[in-house]
Amino acid sequence: MTYHVRYYGDPILRSKSKRVESFDEDFRRFATRLVELMYEYDGVGLAAVQIGVPKRVFAIDDGSGGGWKVIVNPEITWRSKESVINEEGCLSLPEIYEDVERPQSIAVRYQNLEGETVEERLEGYPAIVFQHEADHLNGVLFIDHISVAKRRLLHRTLLDIQRKAIPRMAADFVEPRPASSESNPKAKETL
Ligand SMILES: [Zn+2]
Repeated sequence: MTYHVRYYGDPILRSKSKRVESFDEDFRRFATRLVELMYEYDGVGLAAVQIGVPKRVFAIDDGSGGGWKVIVNPEITWRSKESVINEEGCLSLPEIYEDVERPQSIAVRYQNLEGETVEERLEGYPAIVFQHEADHLNGVLFIDHISVAKRRLLHRTLLDIQRKAIPRMAADFVEPRPASSESNPKAKETL
């Protein structure tokens, strides 16, 4: 299976991802691919839903020195009152970078690749990356955290990204198209 990054406008990015129940060989293979793709796309984080697999898992390498991690079924169990503002970007929203305000520290619980429960407290950049990726699992994008006025300014850029999303969505239709000339114009319309 080949995966590609889904862009803003692809409805899958707005879906709520489902819990991972099985930590079998297939899942581990998928998680390895997710990590590889994160590096191929030069990201610090990549959620499964961003490559079209709506499962509650994401890969991160936030530069804090520990290398990559796969985070499964994450929960944010505590958020600090203090917040930080940081410029965020997203592989699904190319060329958009905006200041986003988020809690400065968080406490998290998740499962690792072996299915073991891990609890951690994160601060600063690692906390930001975790929150950004956890948002993806709930269909939330970082632009949802910016003001309506700022979003309005991005309108044109967002439309351009949506135009890119359409051929990528079409690439998922692997069934052969009906050969009849009557159904062809209709198929084109749905794109
Ligand atoms: Zn993102």
